[in-house]
Amino acid sequence: MGFKEDVDFARFLSMGVYAADAVTQDLEHNHGHRIIELERYAKANKVWQTKIKRMRLPDLMCVTCGRRFESKGKTKLEIKLSDSSLPGRAWCDGGMRLDDIFAFARVNMKTSPVTVSNLVYVTRQSLEDALGSSKEGNRKSVSEGSEMDRKWPMWTPDYAGEVVAVDDGLKKVRVTKGTSTYLYGSGSRWATFHTLKAGTAFEAGQPVAFCFRMADSVACAGDGSWSWKEDLLSADEDIRFPAVKAARFLGAEPVEDVLIGIAGDEANDWRLRLEAHASLAPTRPASVAALLVLAECADSTDEVRMEAVLSLSEIGTEEAAEALHSIANSTAPAVPEEVRAAAAWGLGTGAGEAPAKLIHLVNDPSVLVATHAAAVMPSDLPQECLDELLDWLRADDLRRAATAAHLLAERALVAELVNALQAAPEGVRRLIVLALGDTSREAVTGLLSRLDAQSRAGITTLWAKNDDWLRQPDTDGILDALKLQTLRR
Ligand SMILES: [Zn+2]
Repeated sequence: MGFKEDVDFARFLSMGVYAADAVTQDLEHNHGHRIIELERYAKANKVWQTKIKRMRLPDLMCVTCGRRFESKGKTKLEIKLSDSSLPGRAWCDGGMRLDDIFAFARVNMKTSPVTVSNLVYVTRQSLEDALGSSKEGNRKSVSEGSEMDRKWPMWTPDYAGEVVAVDDGLKKVRVTKGTSTYLYGSGSRWATFHTLKAGTAFEAGQPVAFCFRMADSVACAGDGSWSWKEDLLSADEDIRFPAVKAARFLGAEPVEDVLIGIAGDEANDWRLRLEAHASLAPTRPASVAALLVLAECADSTDEVRMEAVLSLSEIGTEEAAEALHSIANSTAPAVPEEVRAAAAWGLGTGAGEAPAKLIHLVNDPSVLVATHAAAVMPSDLPQECLDELLDWLRADDLRRAATAAHLLAERALVAELVNALQAAPEGVRRLIVLALGDTSREAVTGLLSRLDAQSRAGITTLWAKNDDWLRQPDTDGILDALKLQTLRR
């Protein structure tokens, strides 16, 4: 996949991220849960090419009560899950127990900021009870594992109103609609029928009638309701993995020996062993070292390396930052570029940001590593990083100079660029002029008088692209795109 396809995919993933975040906020603030990401990266939209086959578990979990939540965000609110006839791939197979909760939400990516609304909570049990009313969507080919969608029908009016009367027997519901009323009758086609209670007001887009029973309460059962230390000893990985993951948040020290045992037992799944180290790592440098070994050693698979790097990125200690730095700079042939790029990414976006370590990676000979490092440099540069960039503009190394010019221009540090212009070697001067041409006219105009005539002329010529109607964001490249569509035989 090229980086343009990645952008499209990231946009698609963003919807899920916004939904998971809104569900987290609601569960924490309105229902008393303490939510963590049970599936790593459930709340991130970064696209990696190295696919990690994680355990089939829901996105989110409460570390107080142990309840699991699978969140789904779509443009349109629908109770829809992917389903398959393959073993372990049915809609209910993702590690959801009967009282675990599916959370559906509507995500509107067109507003700024993005809005998430109409949260619907429903237990796996309720969806099973209403299975007779659910409908299969289009089944893809057998070669794709007979993957399809399963949908539980409901009625969501696009207007606000109030429920006037419910007829359970005939499966009908009457609601107010403006100044009159409307009788909804299509529910009679469902085997099971539930509605909001008579007298309940509803918002536009909120489900009023549905074939499943909505969760009555999603409140947290509170302290003591989950015996996670016992779950650590379970033989069932679906039970043990969430407990291992939660240990980091609940205090790993009292169970350190158990976790060390899990991490060291080669009979365990690699993901369980890695996660035990990840839970120990914030308080145990030896586990950081173990994750570093997993990322770098010759016999790890790429998915193990990648998961080790992503888990190190979650740890805010100096040792973890050192480990990421080592991986990002690794010269071992077994360590792929993307693993190094992910380590750089972790140094910029992870729990322990380390811009001083990151700055040397923006000139890495690997384009993948260098661009990942540059993209996550903080917007407020620490002085030592700024000094470093200014040094690069004085030396005769065009690659370094170009990086520096981009990073400064992106941060609108125009005075620094203008000052650097005086002392820069010839080739570097042109790169600085190019970068200034990318910045706003307003920011630079006041400084133009400090420049020589040639640089001034260069910058003002570059600004002319603002006056060119075919170089605007909505028109740039449009002629090429249209010419590609002139094929007609
Ligand atoms: Zn809870």
